[in-house]
Amino acid sequence: MRILVVEDDVNLNRQLADTLKEAGYVVDQAFDGEEGHFLGDTEPYDAIILDIGLPEMDGVTVLEKWRSAGRGVPVLILTARDRWSDKVAGIDAGADDYVTKPFHVEEVLARIRALIRRAAGHSSSEIICGPVRLDTKSSKATVNGTTLKLTSHEYRLLAYLMHHMGEVVSRTELVEHMYDQDFDRDSNTIEVFVGRLRKKMGVDLIETVRGLGYRIQAPKHAN
Ligand code: CA
Repeated sequence: MRILVVEDDVNLNRQLADTLKEAGYVVDQAFDGEEGHFLGDTEPYDAIILDIGLPEMDGVTVLEKWRSAGRGVPVLILTARDRWSDKVAGIDAGADDYVTKPFHVEEVLARIRALIRRAAGHSSSEIICGPVRLDTKSSKATVNGTTLKLTSHEYRLLAYLMHHMGEVVSRTELVEHMYDQDFDRDSNTIEVFVGRLRKKMGVDLIETVRGLGYRIQAPKHAN
């Protein structure tokens, strides 16, 4: 899962990015409204954290531009405590949720998890597919109750496929959601990660759809 953080307070931006990375997300950072707008307009993110008070272009304008261009990415806005009107303007502009400053980064993390999960149509923090359980809260996966020892890339790959259960996901899409913008991307590495993941899981869950990508089939009988 790939997140964009748009926040001009350098320390706060770094703190958010570090916390998100520790939780297994890939993070791009922008420090003003124009840069943030450009990235959100051109890169595929699973969620965006957007400060409202930004230089160059304010957060509400950034959000309005994304929404009028048809970008439906979940957006969490950050607002100042004494600026209740920013919340109203942000929500009216298309924000999905907000957090008021000062906040605990854990709260932002929990809200981002919920936004990503809801956008993918899952209401619980645990995504289950047959014997495999993905706990988005602890960033862990288990097969028949045994915790898998996954690298961050393997976890991101499994998490993305499980969030998009039933859909064919191309290698390009996986690369775009597993690496940040500065990474030297090579979609051939995906095949290697899929191979390792299959071996570690020991169950036949990830299906190769020839010429198109990969898919985790949704269980036929939902529980
Ligand atoms: Ca600010």
